[in-house]
Amino acid sequence: MFDLTTRDIKYLAGVGPQKASVLNKELGIYSLHDLLYYFPYKYVDRSRIYYIHEIDGNMPYIQLKGKIVGFEPVGEGRARRLIAHFSDGTGVIDLVWFQGIKYILGKYKLGEDYLIFGKPTVFNGRINLAHPDIEDPAGVVLSNMGLRPYYNTTEKMKRGFLNSNAIEKMMAAVVQQIQEPLPETLPPHIITEHHLMSLTDALKSIHFPTNPELLRRAQYRIKFEELFYIQLNILRYSKDRQLRYRGYVFESVGDIFNTFYHRNLPFELTGAQKRVIKEIRQDIGSGRQMNRLLQGDVGSGKTLVALMSMLIALDNGYQACMMAPTEILANQHFETIKELLFGMDIRVELLTGSVKGKKRKEIHAGLLTGDVKILIGTHAVIEDTVNFSSLGLVIIDEQHRFGVAQRARLWSKNLQPPHVLVMTATPIPRTLAMTLYGDLDVSVIDELPPGRKPIATIHQFDNRRESLYKAIRKQVEEGRQIYIVYPLIKESEKIDLKNLEEGFVQICKEFPEYTVCKVHGKMKAAEKDEQMQRFINGEAQIMVATTVIEVGVNVPNASVMVIENAERFGLSQLHQLRGRVGRGADQSYCILVTSYKLTDDTRKRLETMVRTNDGFEIAEVDLKLRGPGDLEGTQQSGVAFDLKIANLARDGQLLQYVRDIAQKVVEHDPNATAPENETLWRQLKNLRKTNVNWAAIS
Ligand code: ADP
Ligand code: MG
Repeated sequence: MFDLTTRDIKYLAGVGPQKASVLNKELGIYSLHDLLYYFPYKYVDRSRIYYIHEIDGNMPYIQLKGKIVGFEPVGEGRARRLIAHFSDGTGVIDLVWFQGIKYILGKYKLGEDYLIFGKPTVFNGRINLAHPDIEDPAGVVLSNMGLRPYYNTTEKMKRGFLNSNAIEKMMAAVVQQIQEPLPETLPPHIITEHHLMSLTDALKSIHFPTNPELLRRAQYRIKFEELFYIQLNILRYSKDRQLRYRGYVFESVGDIFNTFYHRNLPFELTGAQKRVIKEIRQDIGSGRQMNRLLQGDVGSGKTLVALMSMLIALDNGYQACMMAPTEILANQHFETIKELLFGMDIRVELLTGSVKGKKRKEIHAGLLTGDVKILIGTHAVIEDTVNFSSLGLVIIDEQHRFGVAQRARLWSKNLQPPHVLVMTATPIPRTLAMTLYGDLDVSVIDELPPGRKPIATIHQFDNRRESLYKAIRKQVEEGRQIYIVYPLIKESEKIDLKNLEEGFVQICKEFPEYTVCKVHGKMKAAEKDEQMQRFINGEAQIMVATTVIEVGVNVPNASVMVIENAERFGLSQLHQLRGRVGRGADQSYCILVTSYKLTDDTRKRLETMVRTNDGFEIAEVDLKLRGPGDLEGTQQSGVAFDLKIANLARDGQLLQYVRDIAQKVVEHDPNATAPENETLWRQLKNLRKTNVNWAAIS
């Protein structure tokens, strides 16, 4: 078989060891196969010729046909350049060269027909084309010219004479070598059923499409394949897991759950909470091990859903464990849950880094005897010394702070892996969730408890401090509490801390009659907790902080969130911060303070925040603005997608489509043995072997 993966790029005509080394380092291209999978980032239509009288300085690359009517060298020394006046009968335009002047003068002649190609720009009020491509139009058949590919290159590549043009030439040489079809990477039944181009045609056409329709079909085929294998990989893993492990069966909803529901529950569940609890019940009663992601905007009442799921585990004779990313949050969950379970005979314990000595031993022992029914804690709960008598359900709160590896450690706490419910307030757009957590089922709480007033969000420039302070004073006088948050970004930590300290001093000066507390990540845990506690118990009216308060803390009396330098926060982070207020019945405010100078993207972020409180809408905008690689949660989970052509923000529909196909394949061929799928499983194995990122997706 014709195998391009084994052909070293350096033996391609015109490449050689030096250029090959640049390609290795800059783009990770080693073989002809790698090169072929380096796709153009844009195409320019060369089947059409423009007239000079129709062009302006804002056009993309264009093609003209005409004659050079005169050369004119201008400038001296470094400003020296050559101008050629070019005419097509409808007007005259300047072609400009800054280098290679002698060569140009020797090569091109006045009065001959040329086809020229370049991007118009405006200089000194005149339109010109700098360093255009020039060809002899004789023999050029426009309809065969098709679309011309453009490739991204780096500075180092350009210095090594590897510009887009050079890549195009190399690509043409590779395509030329493909005389027989490449090994197909999708089985015939999928190709026919979904009307896909063959791999060979697609690869040829994606570099050198003869018309836009062919390009579209080539791109579709390659995107299809890229997304399809990601989904197949995930679904295969979860099928494997399903076949290998049985889940504990929580058959009944019993006394504990019912007592809580009928006697203790302080309010009516929202419709969304009821629906999600039902989904969870079905899952944990099915005999399948549950792996479920619970998404719900901040304040949507996830804790209650977690608790009620844990009670079902207890009803069936199992223990439950809930893990939070910080000590403060674990504490808060512990307090909340103890309060909710008031009067019920259920032993709940808290295990964090600060639980030591005798108390810790007691908890360890209680877990082993099964006397401790619910364990709440931080990372401390996954230490090897913590063992359960019958752990049946694990809840992970604010998931994005936990990695895949930590999830796996929890699995080993019982003979069979316990059911896992992962909760997150970072709304992940559907397309991304399907790719990131494709093995998890997703439940969504899309409804806030009744009586909440939507938070009013205001954008204010930082030269209007007075009105800001007036608003703060008014709220505090009404008995409310205020957060003031400063950015903290690793690279400029010192400057940021200085900003925070200065802000703190200024606020203390401005509001001498109030108590102001201060929290930042550089503080010792105990000190941080103490400051936080002063705010939680109402002793301090104003808290000046960095983003350490971002996750989970619940202070219903806090009604104003001021975010300083809001331009330096990402959208989802702004939304998370805003979610710290608006938890009580009073009208809450979020004030985004920025400087006057804003980029378009920042403006868009701020507008989005002002316009909507809907976390999912915000997540979608965020995905479009930043791309999936940057989204919160993606780095921490160890998955960095290296999509070559598909785009999660744009190709959501295709992703859903290929997921359904992959699902069918896995259902019909659960053991991966069907002969018609041989290509699929072989290709999947290859991909798992070659692409490090794939391993992390499980
Ligand atoms: P999150 O989803 O952000 O973790 P919480 O679970 O902390 O939200 O809930 C936020 C607040 O809403 C809590 O004070 C909780 O008691 C309250 N709450 C939860 N469910 C309901 C409900 N159905 N009706 C009224 N209040 C509720
Ligand atoms: Mg929460």
